[in-house]
Amino acid sequence: MREQEWRKELRKQMTARERTQIKRTGMPETDPLERIKNNTEVNRGITAEMAMQEAKRCLDCADPECINGCPVGVDIPTFVKYVEAGEFLKAAISIKEENVFPAVCGRVCPQEVQCESKCIYSVRLKKEAVAIGYLERFVADYQNESASLYVPEIQPSNKVKVAVIGSGPAGLAAAGELVKFGYDVTVFEALHEFGGVLKYGIPEFRLPNKIIDTEIECLKKMGVKMQKNIIAGKTITFSDLEEEGFKAFFIGSGAGLPNFMNIPGENLNGVLSANEYLTRVNLMGAAKPGYDTPVFFGKNVAVIGGGNTAMDSVRTARRLGAERAMIIYRRSFDEMPARKEEIKHAMEEGVEFLNLHTPIEYIAGKNGHVSQIRLQRMRLSEPDESGRKKPVPVENSDYVIDADLVIVSIGVSPNPLVPKNLPSLQVSKWGTIIVNDKEMQSNISGIFAGGDIVRGGATVILAMGDGRKAALGIHKYLNYK
Ligand code: FAD
Ligand code: SF4
Repeated sequence: MREQEWRKELRKQMTARERTQIKRTGMPETDPLERIKNNTEVNRGITAEMAMQEAKRCLDCADPECINGCPVGVDIPTFVKYVEAGEFLKAAISIKEENVFPAVCGRVCPQEVQCESKCIYSVRLKKEAVAIGYLERFVADYQNESASLYVPEIQPSNKVKVAVIGSGPAGLAAAGELVKFGYDVTVFEALHEFGGVLKYGIPEFRLPNKIIDTEIECLKKMGVKMQKNIIAGKTITFSDLEEEGFKAFFIGSGAGLPNFMNIPGENLNGVLSANEYLTRVNLMGAAKPGYDTPVFFGKNVAVIGGGNTAMDSVRTARRLGAERAMIIYRRSFDEMPARKEEIKHAMEEGVEFLNLHTPIEYIAGKNGHVSQIRLQRMRLSEPDESGRKKPVPVENSDYVIDADLVIVSIGVSPNPLVPKNLPSLQVSKWGTIIVNDKEMQSNISGIFAGGDIVRGGATVILAMGDGRKAALGIHKYLNYK
């Protein structure tokens, strides 16, 4: 690839020194005071001129480490050089060889700890990395907005039926790959919308629904059948599906079971999980007038946790009118797992961070509704098994704050429904499905799994990578059976 003539010509147009003098492009953003009034996407995307200028910074390294930083191994310098040459569609097609949903990943992937952290600019030149994520988003949007929807080529149907359980990024990626091989693929989704966390979890101000809908439309055009409101293991069993002629299964049912802290008052009205809160707002119209599934808006909203889900919840609460929207996190900013960009955006939107704090009790006001939280101050001691400094309570440091809505966002576990319906399926002590690393096959032949149901809460790109890997495993299984 690197030795193609067009690419050699491009390299000659500027010296490496000139390229390193170009300043990294910024991302245009909606004004914080405006954006907290609605769900408009915060990052506006870069223009073609900005993209081509940014692409010039890439040194087209002989041994590009950025590729090793991408969990699915996208050929980053190739797509970036296509951008520099103004060949945006070729750039998009080149990314899609490894990453089926670049418009999603360009928005939500933590590039700062993946590809961009390995870029020669970050590692050796001690400068800001090439803005790989911004470029990925730009070319994917360019392709989606260009006249016709790009539909990858598929092989003629072999009429072999494969079932995909769950329509999150793992399931959709598996379905897209399987249909390309010619399988008759049906995706079964428990909810009334397809997309998994991309739809019910991540808010529109970070990932607009139309982006996911475009990807789903593309899968449907490729021949993937999609059925909603079907709970595998409940409304339909695996035996039913086998009787219907399905020869292999991919389970991508995610990890949607929220964890709680089991502290006094957790069952009060006004204390709920981030999953419930975000699903009600994003999927069930809870914030819109006229819907019969309202959610309590809250004036003083406390979100417990420091991950992306916590940031999405607190920023949603702010948009729903919270006057005081707080993050309560037991460690410090250094250990906070949320993306840096999300933390920055939350701060700009007026979110308050009570770091080194943990709730120890929720206190009832009128009618059994939460009205206060007893907080305990924390300090950091030696690192624990996760490598992060361990938070320990500061003695006699508790105090009370007002809160009329508490959103608990301290992690999730896999939903046990699917394993329950398949009693011989091997699961770990955390309830995740055990699979072999190479093909994502479980201990039951013909049953494959990937994404959060295997990893117990990870990232979109890892879920998609699993889905693709499993699709190859299923293809091999069905061909060599
Ligand atoms: P999911 O996306 O959870 O999809 C599983 C699907 O299976 C769901 O639609 C569910 O309804 C369906 N299902 C479950 N059981 C059944 C059944 N029995 N029958 C039929 N269907 C079933 N990752 C990032 O990389 N970047 C981010 O910025 C980011 N932000 C996040 C924000 C939030 C609020 C959350 C909750 C997660 C975030 N993540 C982020 C994590 C990421 O979204 C997940 O790792 C990813 O979605 C996992 O994909 P999945 O396909 O395994 O599962
Ligand atoms: Fe370009 Fe950075 Fe990758 Fe080198 S490491 S090829 S400069 S993106």
